[in-house]
Amino acid sequence: MTIRARLIVDTHVHSQRHAAKFKERGVEGDYKTLSREMRLMETYDNSPRLLYDMERYGIDMCVIQPEFAMTNELNAELVRKYPDKFIATCLPVETMKKSLRGEKEWTAEDAAQELDRLLSTGLYKGGIGEGLPRHPNRKRMLSWPERLDELRLFMEIARKHKVPVSYHTGAITGYSSGSSRRLSAPERTDPMLAFELAGEFPDVPIIMAHGGMQGWWSEKFMDDTFQVAATFDNVYLETGLYWAKLYERPLADPNIGPKKLIWGTDWGASIVVYSQRGQYPPSYADQIKPWGIPKHQPDIWGWSLRQVEKMAMDLDLSQDDLNLILGGNAARLFNIELPHRRLFRE
Ligand SMILES: [Zn+2]
Repeated sequence: MTIRARLIVDTHVHSQRHAAKFKERGVEGDYKTLSREMRLMETYDNSPRLLYDMERYGIDMCVIQPEFAMTNELNAELVRKYPDKFIATCLPVETMKKSLRGEKEWTAEDAAQELDRLLSTGLYKGGIGEGLPRHPNRKRMLSWPERLDELRLFMEIARKHKVPVSYHTGAITGYSSGSSRRLSAPERTDPMLAFELAGEFPDVPIIMAHGGMQGWWSEKFMDDTFQVAATFDNVYLETGLYWAKLYERPLADPNIGPKKLIWGTDWGASIVVYSQRGQYPPSYADQIKPWGIPKHQPDIWGWSLRQVEKMAMDLDLSQDDLNLILGGNAARLFNIELPHRRLFRE
């Protein structure tokens, strides 16, 4: 591996893992139990493995994100401990947990207030993510206008604190079997819904997590995601799960191009790579149900950086363009302090 860049930032990382304790509790430890229970499980700090991988692969910084009950506090602690290595995003985790425990019904207003409190600490320069807050166990399908009203509250908070938001485009096929995303967060499975948000909040950067490719081989969500990114200046695409070929169309588009692509992989999520030699794509990231939950730490960086390198070789991409994708755009979006000015093309 020889990929080099002035700055390498993975904008989508999870530094915590769940302590399922299936054995201790005498329950069967399959992925169904895990996805049902994980939002109330305890999590632990997985940063020793993360720091090891950062060192091995030359990753300078990570944007660490809570999701599935990973706590804001553990991430903030890491930011305090390693300010030059980590930036954290935040989510209203307490509002979600209260609702799951049956203590207080989830409301978007409570979620927005919790976000406001968290962002006021100045510890979450990464903004809001992963995903915009959603009801954790909604039973009724929300209409898009109803959901849009919830999202506007969160976008106002991002605007107030001048931070980006990130949310998924697409949905992984694996362990959670779709969970309740379509009920509570229709924007995830219809990237075009970002038109309203991006248009109403042109000053809030929106990172489309996974850039239309959240694992699996189907490119179904990609065209819609590209359409949003090409239309709105404030929309960015996260590319870490793209196989090499997938970089080509957005890079060639003058309204997208390298200035709107940011590398972020979902390191720490239990996503493995499936290889199928002789097929297209030859390999892709996914959660593979028959394999069960991986017990080891799947190595997504080795694969993802190899795809970036292959793309850069195939396209003979300029280093200035590659620098933007791997770190320069992230530096601008997350206000990363750099040792020099003008390291990256404006
Ligand atoms: Zn993630």
